[in-house]
Amino acid sequence: MVQQLTDKFGRTIEYLRLSVTDRCDLRCNYCMPEGFKDFEVPEDWLSFAEIERVIRVFGELGTRRIRITGGEPLVRKNLAELATRLAALPGIEDLSLSSNATRLQKQAVPLKQAGISRINVSLDTLRADRFKEITGGKIDKVLKGLMAAKEAGFQPVKINMVVMRGVNDDEVEEMVQFCIEHDFTLRFIETMPMGDTGRNASLQYIPLSEIHDRLAKKYTLIQAKMNGGGPARYVRVEGTELRIGFITPMSQHFCDTCNRVRLSVDGTLYLCLGQEASYPLRELLRAGITDEELKQHIQKAIDLKPEKHEFNNKPEKLVRFMSMTGG
Ligand code: SAM
Ligand code: SF4
Repeated sequence: MVQQLTDKFGRTIEYLRLSVTDRCDLRCNYCMPEGFKDFEVPEDWLSFAEIERVIRVFGELGTRRIRITGGEPLVRKNLAELATRLAALPGIEDLSLSSNATRLQKQAVPLKQAGISRINVSLDTLRADRFKEITGGKIDKVLKGLMAAKEAGFQPVKINMVVMRGVNDDEVEEMVQFCIEHDFTLRFIETMPMGDTGRNASLQYIPLSEIHDRLAKKYTLIQAKMNGGGPARYVRVEGTELRIGFITPMSQHFCDTCNRVRLSVDGTLYLCLGQEASYPLRELLRAGITDEELKQHIQKAIDLKPEKHEFNNKPEKLVRFMSMTGG
């Protein structure tokens, strides 16, 4: 019989976000500090075999969905090989990827063949100069990567746009048109005060209700559903196939339906994006614990899952920035 992971607040945990690296080839200014170099060393990265084992055991504990993330996951060598191994695990029904798409042009087809079905790409602007300002990188590689993902048959391809006042909020309508034209799904995200970078970006925070109301003046927005098990609330733009998701961790948190945990590249389980609660698995794995013992440790970790984040009342609390946890 398949077991289920349930936390102290009665939430079933069936979704794991797997960070395969804390490194990245971009430096989004709300995420990773410029010049940051204090990365995990390779000896401390979980190997593919260790990752596969942890995910297999999570699968036996009822986890159905895995999202590969980072840092930038495509920076980790041989990612398609890992994806093939994870996709083959019993119980894992949905394997997806979050990427900045800089390296997707070459890797889209192998990753699709490996069994990744859905992909989310971060893209906050369509303008090359702004892209450079926000991320330090070049937008053409990202646009080529996005188109390669579409060509390779990922369905859906979702664009994640962190909306920041005075930075890119004037581009919301352009992004809507871009996504209609290319058949992408669009998701807006509120900035979160994760680490100093996130806290700085929070100065440009916009509640997404503002963006929703602005779009509602221009388009007819109809409530919609979208598969994926995430916290976004969706609308469809009438007369088009475009779905727009609003992810509002700040203005309307969704902690009571949280179904996920995060495994970082060094084998630490993080129980909440906005809290320090964590449980280290790497040393236990390397000390030779059995699968049964691993299951007990995972349940102990789940027991530490906090009821909710404290971004609003204790924004100074979290030192970790997003790419360290696995966003
Ligand atoms: N590198 C990949 C990417 O950018 O999609 C995957 C990892 S990234 C950490 C995952 C997501 O976290 C991205 O959509 C990014 O925009 C988001 N993110 C990072 N820092 C954030 C912050 N302070 N507030 C809101 N979203 C943030
Ligand atoms: Fe890299 Fe993604 Fe963080 Fe940007 S949001 S710095 S692409 S990990």
